[in-house]
Amino acid sequence: MLFKYNSDILNGPIKPATVFYLTQGPDSLKDRPELASFRLTIQQLLATGAFKGEYLEKLPLYFPENDNWLIMIGLGDYEKIIPHRLHEAGAAAVNALNSLNLKEGFICSPLLPKFTATQALELVVHGARLGAESRYNYKTNADEPVNTLKTVTFWNPEHLSFIAKPKVIISRAQIAAEAQLQARRLADLPANYLDPVAFVEVASTVAQRNKLQMNVWDESQIEAEGAGGLLAVGQGSDRPPRMVSLEYPGTVRGSKTVALVGKGVTFDSGGLCLKPGEGMGQMKTDMSGAAVVLAVMDAVTSLKVTNRVVGVMALAENMPSHKAYRPGDVISTLSGQTVEIVNTDAEGRLLLADGLTLAQRFQADYIIDVATLTGACLVALGEKCAGLFSDNEFLRNGLQRSGQLVGENFWPMPLLSEYEEDLKSELADFKQAATRSGGAIMAALFLKRFVKPNVGWAHLDIAGTARRSRKSPFGPEGGSGFGVSTILKFLCSI
Ligand SMILES: [Zn+2]
Repeated sequence: MLFKYNSDILNGPIKPATVFYLTQGPDSLKDRPELASFRLTIQQLLATGAFKGEYLEKLPLYFPENDNWLIMIGLGDYEKIIPHRLHEAGAAAVNALNSLNLKEGFICSPLLPKFTATQALELVVHGARLGAESRYNYKTNADEPVNTLKTVTFWNPEHLSFIAKPKVIISRAQIAAEAQLQARRLADLPANYLDPVAFVEVASTVAQRNKLQMNVWDESQIEAEGAGGLLAVGQGSDRPPRMVSLEYPGTVRGSKTVALVGKGVTFDSGGLCLKPGEGMGQMKTDMSGAAVVLAVMDAVTSLKVTNRVVGVMALAENMPSHKAYRPGDVISTLSGQTVEIVNTDAEGRLLLADGLTLAQRFQADYIIDVATLTGACLVALGEKCAGLFSDNEFLRNGLQRSGQLVGENFWPMPLLSEYEEDLKSELADFKQAATRSGGAIMAALFLKRFVKPNVGWAHLDIAGTARRSRKSPFGPEGGSGFGVSTILKFLCSI
């Protein structure tokens, strides 16, 4: 997909297809000189109710005299336009162009009082790139239509709103979108295609492409190092666990180090505490946190991130077998702390614990972990909002703000010390889990024990957001790549 920019397409030859956005309401045509030549047509459509400008409403109009298309896409009530809506609107534009089997299209980036022209362009480009991707399938007889669109030119009437370096904005939005797509593709891979070893292969291509330092522990080194959390989770499977770290030096010497830690359970059966069969297939996406980390590491070089960034991915398959770890076991983690196992389905926190310990060996100033950690977080915040746990104001505000800018919701959750009591164990330093209530908080409190107090730490529970259960302008149900854009935005802003 080639994305271009042109500030003044109206004075050139007639374009084959142009997308315009329109908000709802009586003033929707005010200050829209770029629509001057279509004003009468649009006014008629609005007057007859043939087009209302409702959110994601689409109306393609064909003009045979010029053999060209005008595609109207509604943005809805402008009071309600939030970044997420502009993001989806970008995807909707590309979907509309593809559904007309066009090879080339033009998208007029919307100008809205709530957004700077740059923000709007960035969101629309990012959304367009996500929308242009069709999901891979394994059908031997593929009969679904292929996306035809090859080139999209974005433009905005420059005399109305100036964008500094629009080509750079487009290229950076595209890099971030490509990264998100990479996380989405990894999450969509069936678990028989993606096990920890296969994940490492993908990580090494990312490392080579970006000249990142890479280090991998295989199962014997995981054991030798004493990473008992990761080892325990992976020991029930014939497909061995791996611990991977990637290191990006940053563009400025002596800058801060941000470590990202991802949960990479390539399939989570629940282990001996087996999950119910219904919905278990979705557990191939339980590596989404590690996919987010890998995708971010793939983009930091091209985005020239100032700070040093380290990506740690703890990878294992959680399976029941005669070798599997058991409830009642006591394990020793990489930090040296011992843990009494309560439930083998609460495996994510065990491998993250070792990942967090490893991350601190890189002298990280900040650690952000990303994980599809608890069903409790999905229950609490749903599919459109992730949990954000952090006592560090800089990280909490920065990540929430970055999420708002890219259209991803993160809601601050409490790390209530009152609940720490519940993790007390008679056998080990502490228990792996406690009661079901407050499950997302309990998991976060468990992780907190593996981070030194002088390190800024944030935990992102993406259990609800990592997967879309419904079709959207970004495509059918499946992995979402949620978190990649927010983390990249955050890394580029500090
Ligand atoms: Zn689990």
